[in-house]
This record gives sequence, C-alpha cells and structure tokens, in this order.
Amino acid sequence: MTIVSYSIEGRRDYGFVIDKSELIPRYFVEDILKERLPRDLKRFLVDSELVDLVKASPESVRVETIPLSSVHLEPPIKNPGKIVRMALNYIDHVEELGASPPEEIVFFLKPSTSLVGPMDPIVKPKIVKKLDYEGELAVVIGIKAKDLEPDEAYFHVFGYTVLNDVTARDFQFRDGLWRGWTMSKCFDTFAPLGPWIVSRDEIEDPHNLRIITKVNKEIRQNSNTSRMIFKIPEIISYVSQIMTLEPGDIIATGTPAGVGHVREEWLLKEGDIVEVWIENIKAIRNQVLKTD
Ligand code: MG
Repeated sequence: MTIVSYSIEGRRDYGFVIDKSELIPRYFVEDILKERLPRDLKRFLVDSELVDLVKASPESVRVETIPLSSVHLEPPIKNPGKIVRMALNYIDHVEELGASPPEEIVFFLKPSTSLVGPMDPIVKPKIVKKLDYEGELAVVIGIKAKDLEPDEAYFHVFGYTVLNDVTARDFQFRDGLWRGWTMSKCFDTFAPLGPWIVSRDEIEDPHNLRIITKVNKEIRQNSNTSRMIFKIPEIISYVSQIMTLEPGDIIATGTPAGVGHVREEWLLKEGDIVEVWIENIKAIRNQVLKTD
C-alpha cells in the first residue's frame, strides 16, 4: 500500500497510489468499502484492521482515480509528534568525515514546522551561508512504541518514506565552534518529505535499498541502506526506551557519504534542484529558493 497526502485548492486529504501515477482519494475508498476512514492519517495508520481492509481491496476501488500530476503533493505526515534524526549512521559518511564510528546511538529532534512537500521549495534564509543536503530513508511509526526490544520493533513500523535533512552547516559549526544539530536543521522548509509512504510489507528489506542524491542531475550521494551502522530495529528499541513513539512519528535514519560539508563547492545555491531517490519508494525533488 502506498499512501499519499495531497491538496486540491488548499483542501488537504490523503489517498492511495496506484501505478505510481494515479491516486484513489480516501473518501472514494470509503464509499466503496462502506467504512469510515479517519480524516487524520495518523488515526488511519494505527487502525490495523482498517489498513488490512483497504489493502485487500485495491482492485475493487480502482474505478475512479485522480492523476497525481493534477494535485499538490503534501508531506505524507503533516504534524508528526516528532521527527527523530540519527547522527553519523552510515559507515561511508563516517569515513568521509574522518571520524570513528559511534559506539552508541546519538539522535536529535527536528521540528514539524521544518516539513514541506516532496516537490516544494527549500527556502534559504538570508542568514544561512552554507546550505547542505542529506538524503535519508525515513521510518514512519504506525503503532505506539515504548520500551521495545529490537525484535519487536518492525511491528510498530507502518512504512517508509524519503527525507532530505537539509542543514545550515554554518549553524552547526561557526569559527570551529560546535553550535549543535538542532539550530542547524530546524529552519522552516528544511525537511522535504515524501513523495508518499510505502507500507512495510512492500519493502522486503529496508537495509538493502539504493539511495541516491542528485543536485542539478549530478550524482552526489550514491550508497545503500545496508551501510547503516545502527539498523532500524536497534534505533527504534533505543529511542523507545527514552520516549514513547507515537503513530505518525518519523525517524530519519542518517545520511550516506557525499554531503557538501566536506566539499564546499557542493553546498547548495539558489536555483539548485536537489533530488533524493530511494529504491522502491521514489524521489523527492526540491528547488532552493532564497528569501526576499
Ligand atoms: Mg541527517
């Protein structure tokens, strides 16, 4: 099942993607199944009976579809309780930084106000001089999770999507001084997300997906999720011992090698188009605009 959030003339809703090009709106599935589907996607994700019912009937609800090209794609989850993001979680990224692999998980939060849709602009504020990209696989939580063991973790995952963990490097470091992850990544529009959520059952192995980031069609990051240091079950287990994970929460699993941080000429400029593609999910594509 692939779930997309979209808006038409400012009215936001969600639906189910067919053939990667069409969507069946939520309300149409309701009519066919004679079942109410909650308007709030977070309430749908947690209702596994309803999810199974919709999954079982894609053919019967195919009657009426809307081309994806005719709607505005929204971030699949608009108001996640939190966006958890991993630091230094790809072995190739650790190597390019000349760092040692972390022995323990380190994570930070990104605010939901940083989210934008999969094709929306990234706005570069005037005060930011060093704008960078980080292509990442993001996990979407379906069922509330607290104090999990790693082998219980996948049951709580609804599915996967793509995130660009956009970063202002000059707010991460300034004159050699560490300024922190939060400030550098919390700007509005610094979390393009989407283009949709692919449910867990349709991704055979989330640790064997190619991940590619291009800037103006030139490949910058080219890796595989197999290079993650801490795998998804360990991450979820660890985070769930610190805080409750709730339906719709997002966990960005870290970025591979190839960021602009270590090659300043690769930092993003106004007009650049950044594309993050992950195998079996698809791509988000965002243009960098500057504020007036
Ligand atoms: Mg990151």
